[in-house]
Amino acid sequence: MFSYRHGFHAGNHADVLKHITLLSCIELLHKKDTPLMLIDTHAGAGIYNLKDRFAQTSDESSEGILKLAKQANEHSLSDGIRAYLELITQLPNQTKDIEIYPGSPYLLWQSMRSQDKLRLMELHPSDFPDLKSNLESLRLRRQDIKVEETNGFLALKAYLPPPSRRGLILIDPSYEDKGDYHQVLQSLQDAFKRFSTGVYVIWYPILSRLDAKDFPDRLKKLCLEHQLPWLQAELRIKEVTESGLSASGMWVINPPWQLKESLQKDLPLLQEILQIDGAGHYHLQSFE
Ligand code: SAM
Repeated sequence: MFSYRHGFHAGNHADVLKHITLLSCIELLHKKDTPLMLIDTHAGAGIYNLKDRFAQTSDESSEGILKLAKQANEHSLSDGIRAYLELITQLPNQTKDIEIYPGSPYLLWQSMRSQDKLRLMELHPSDFPDLKSNLESLRLRRQDIKVEETNGFLALKAYLPPPSRRGLILIDPSYEDKGDYHQVLQSLQDAFKRFSTGVYVIWYPILSRLDAKDFPDRLKKLCLEHQLPWLQAELRIKEVTESGLSASGMWVINPPWQLKESLQKDLPLLQEILQIDGAGHYHLQSFE
């Protein structure tokens, strides 16, 4: 279970899709002043160095953030991609060639307003202390933030419903443990009992394995059973093979108004810029 370290994958194409979708959701939700509870059930270490031994071993960011940043000037960027790149280039201690990559905890923290709350959960015995020290290094303003070394699948329900009845919940397991597919569905089912109007943002890998292939259908069935609107955004950068990650998707339950319009501008560009050997593809659909 603890073999997965996000440091090996930070800034890859899946992070690019996930983090652009996440930032767009928050931006749209911030159109209302009501306090927002931001929850990250699988937080990771929070900030990554793309020059460290983890990132250098896999070099996945060269097919993700580094490629996007390099080619950005040659394209007319969408607002979503521009905002994401600006945030990354303006990170503290960032270098010209992008040495630092922000994980979802940093993005959530950076997006927080004074009235918002942030809850971060991470179970890995090494990533948890890294997350804590990375957050401490940010010299946090007086904000309502809790970081817990806990099982995010189980801990989530304790925070639901948020006092303001507005919340965004990112569920981003690695799925290296095949039980994660079931756990995501179970956590959602439990969460809906307490807070069915929350915005749930779920990342998933697109793999040839059956459990992975089935997963979007199972999410769709769950949403139909609970009569909840959903949005699905998928991005493939190269042909899907038995090894490595070529594609991934985001499933957003109760998607914020205009998320689809925003992603409709981002996804074709991401496909064009990140694809390898012309094998890129994107897919965007929603049901209200
Ligand atoms: N959300 C992060 C981001 O976008 O930067 C990446 C998260 S990574 C894909 C998944 C993380 O979940 C890993 O750091 C792993 O240690 C952690 N993890 C695995 N099982 C967990 C569980 N049951 N509860 C909380 N964290 C868990």
